[in-house]
Amino acid sequence: MTNSEIQKLYRHACGFRCFPPDDDQFKGWRSKFSLYEERDLRAAIDEWFVTKSTMPLPADLLPVMQRLSDARAARDTTPRYMVAWCCPCCGYGKVGFLKATESAFRNCPSFYSPIGSKTCLPLGETCGATMDIRIDERQSLAWVERKTVASNPGREAMEDAG
Ligand SMILES: [Zn+2]
Repeated sequence: MTNSEIQKLYRHACGFRCFPPDDDQFKGWRSKFSLYEERDLRAAIDEWFVTKSTMPLPADLLPVMQRLSDARAARDTTPRYMVAWCCPCCGYGKVGFLKATESAFRNCPSFYSPIGSKTCLPLGETCGATMDIRIDERQSLAWVERKTVASNPGREAMEDAG
């Protein structure tokens, strides 16, 4: 989930009982939920307010989100492949598992910038740089091939000439 998706759902939760949005509370949400899917957070919030009238803490929502995510994973037997990203701008690294048809293109979700800096970006803003794909199991063979060509630029030229 991107920071802006989390922010949208945080405001959605605040709106249930007119809770005033709070920067520190939102930061807690942002740090806990980034690896989960938007639909799971939305479902957990909606489920919470069926019976509760207080603002939910991340610890209140995470078990519900994990349950929904596990149930879906158990039903979904589509093979997944490891992809690892690294942000060239801030150094943020991330590993995930994608289906064969999913795009590996990702904008950096980190809220630190630039590299080596511990300064947070303003609330709701992320680094946003296009992350480098370091490993993509689906592309690994094609990647090795491209790298070989790139490190032997003469070879390709020769082949073109011949
Ligand atoms: Zn970044």
